Amino acid sequence: MHLHLEGAIPLRSLWELIQKYGGDPDIDSFRDLKKKFVYQDFDHFIETWIWKNQFLREYEDFKFIAEHVARNLLYQNIRYAEVFASPSSFQQYGLKTQDIIFAIHEGFMRVKEIKIRLIIDLVRNYGPEQEMKTLSEINEVKQFDIIGIGIGGSENLYPPEPFSRLYEKARALGFKTTAHAGEAAGPESIRSALFTLKADRIGHATRSAEDVRLLEYMSENHIPLELCPLSNLKTGVITDYKDYPIRTFIDYGIPFSINTDDPMMFGNSLAEEYEMLERNFDFSKQDIAGFILNSIQTTWLSEDEKSYLTKQFQDEILLLIDNQKSDRHKEE
Ligand SMILES: [Zn+2]
Repeated sequence: MHLHLEGAIPLRSLWELIQKYGGDPDIDSFRDLKKKFVYQDFDHFIETWIWKNQFLREYEDFKFIAEHVARNLLYQNIRYAEVFASPSSFQQYGLKTQDIIFAIHEGFMRVKEIKIRLIIDLVRNYGPEQEMKTLSEINEVKQFDIIGIGIGGSENLYPPEPFSRLYEKARALGFKTTAHAGEAAGPESIRSALFTLKADRIGHATRSAEDVRLLEYMSENHIPLELCPLSNLKTGVITDYKDYPIRTFIDYGIPFSINTDDPMMFGNSLAEEYEMLERNFDFSKQDIAGFILNSIQTTWLSEDEKSYLTKQFQDEILLLIDNQKSDRHKEE
């Protein structure tokens, strides 16, 4: 539910793109490329995000990354994903939003075994007028599996309020809505995403843990959160993994999914996210299975699709438990 296409390119595929465009003076080897993705703070992360975007210059590159990201998800045993794409970030290379979407869709369609829907990230930094245009453009091609919109970018510099009309319009056009909030800015940005933008879901929401009344509101209204624990650690939103407020969200009964955000930029897989939670918060395998099943309810799938996916996962979890039992039996 919270995965950025341009932040999920497998490193080997990014390396290929860098070579395609004649290399980079700072990156002599694949090892240098890995080192590039270590951040001093959130602004440094955004800077690196922008640096990496310069290697996406042609529609062909979007088809290439979409296919490689889809294959990587499949390799991780991920069956369904709602993936952010930020087409407006690439207008500087003369690329058109709709053609970027066609290219991404073509890339995804090369990997039939996984279902991927798109959330278009309307970038805060370009302002609401510019992104209103992007919204009209994506509306004309929404049949290419575009399910929703969100706002990402520099949350601390561009608060949500000016985007309220944009969200209203998006809703009227039938898009689902989410917003990055409570990551680089405090609980006030989550309040604004909920009360001004009326977002259906909140991305990150980490700093809502500082505001009891907000937690109560999210609990009463079943606001689904797209949690990204390792991302928050890598960008310095939290300094220690133990500070991650996962127990708070559980205690308040707030629905959530666990996500990787930008796995290429943070070096994390979804399994590692679950492993970190298991290790640091004493969750059992059953707890983790519960998180996975509950997260299906926070997707924008239809009720039928949710039931189908839930059944698929339940069957696999039961099979896994059976296999573990018989392995233990053999060992005895
Ligand atoms: Zn994000």
